[in-house]
Amino acid sequence: MTNFFNLKIPEDEKKVLLHTCCAPCSCSIIARLITDGIEPTVYFYNPNIYPHEEYDRRKAEVIRYAQKMNIPFVDADYDSDPWFEHVKGHEEDPERGERCTLCFEMRLGKAAAYAAQNGFKVFTTSLGVSRWKDLAQVNRAGEKAAASFPGLIFWAQNWRIGGGQEQMDRISREENFYRQRYCGCLYSFRESLRRGFPEFSGDQPAL
Ligand code: SF4
Repeated sequence: MTNFFNLKIPEDEKKVLLHTCCAPCSCSIIARLITDGIEPTVYFYNPNIYPHEEYDRRKAEVIRYAQKMNIPFVDADYDSDPWFEHVKGHEEDPERGERCTLCFEMRLGKAAAYAAQNGFKVFTTSLGVSRWKDLAQVNRAGEKAAASFPGLIFWAQNWRIGGGQEQMDRISREENFYRQRYCGCLYSFRESLRRGFPEFSGDQPAL
């Protein structure tokens, strides 16, 4: 028997654009959406990820899972220079600070534009899945992005609850996903180095 999750997508839409940061954070969302009869399209826009090898590695894992689940994958630009420009002056901010707000706004702003231009009424993101993230901060960025496009709705679902965290861990293990050891940008990498990578296991990325 299928276990439905009774997700309450806004406006009872049947499809959603899912901004995706990485495979571990998005796998459970994808699985739950499909189980509940909602069609996700994966949108990969993460110019924050540094270095390029790390970006390619994370993206390849998302593509692998999207192909396995037979859902569309949209590959957006890796425009890292504009990202560095966007967060300039905030290099030393702590995680969850203003740099992260700017980072979320840039990524979700582009996702919102794609959604509006390609017939999606609802978009959401995997950015708030990790317990290291401030979900309210992510949701504020999503709402702000949606506000630029009349009729577009940001779905501020808490994907951690209702077994989401456990499902994420289980699928990640089953799929043997690459598990990154830092949030993504150069500055979070440096900070993780200072802390000795306490939160993840795996190989240190080559810089
Ligand atoms: S720590 Fe993460 S969310 Fe914050 S700016 Fe860096 S990549 Fe973006």
